[in-house]
Amino acid sequence: ETIVEFIAQARNRESAMFTEAEGKSLLSACGIDTPQGVEIAVGQELPGHLREPLVVKAISATLVHKSDAGGVRVGVTRAELEEVAAQMRESLADFGHTLDGLLVEEMVPAGHEIIAGAVRAPGLGWTVMVGLGGVLVEVFEDVAFGLAPLSNEQILDMLQELRGMKVLNGARGGVKADVPALVTLISRLAGPGGLLASLPDDVVEIDLNPVIVSDTRAVAVDARFVVG
Ligand code: ADP
Ligand code: MG
Repeated sequence: ETIVEFIAQARNRESAMFTEAEGKSLLSACGIDTPQGVEIAVGQELPGHLREPLVVKAISATLVHKSDAGGVRVGVTRAELEEVAAQMRESLADFGHTLDGLLVEEMVPAGHEIIAGAVRAPGLGWTVMVGLGGVLVEVFEDVAFGLAPLSNEQILDMLQELRGMKVLNGARGGVKADVPALVTLISRLAGPGGLLASLPDDVVEIDLNPVIVSDTRAVAVDARFVVG
């Protein structure tokens, strides 16, 4: 089965993670919204179906936090792709990584950045964490925890626990987030019969950081699956 192959391949890499595209294919298969995207080799022509603006992400076996090494560029046009790839290769090299390829995606509309994650807790199953992304999560540690499987009501309760929930509801004239779409996304991950329940024991951690929640969508734009 595919996931068994993903695990075997991940173990052969230094970082023991699924590739971002592999992770996103698993999310997509269980109905979680992910950006349209393709993996290409550097220098390979981009297929025609992706719409600008594009997001270009480095594929590298040793790279975990792509942005830290200049491995993410948003708002890129097709015409800029070659130049961006060249810059990315140099930047990654400065950090000791090799650019193995590019994940090119559609740029999803701006929204609130949420993080959703899960860690396998021995004897307990999966501990699920949600929080507001960016500064709120790092500085204020505004996160809420629960144990899978989570009902939609429990998911909503977790979101209500967040001090930053007011921001999601459109406080201070900001975008009003599609909270029901976010609840659905978390449920497809951590609800009864959700993705977490179907994962083999070898997968020990998942991070969707961020999920971008706009007024019409909740999209997982990054996916990290860690193999133990
Ligand atoms: P990292 O490995 O650094 O966490 P991400 O894939 O999370 O890389 O990308 C970094 C940031 O770029 C995200 O937090 C998000 O703000 C933005 N981003 C990534 N992918 C997309 C996308 N498809 N559409 C819009 N913004 C994106
Ligand atoms: Mg990320």
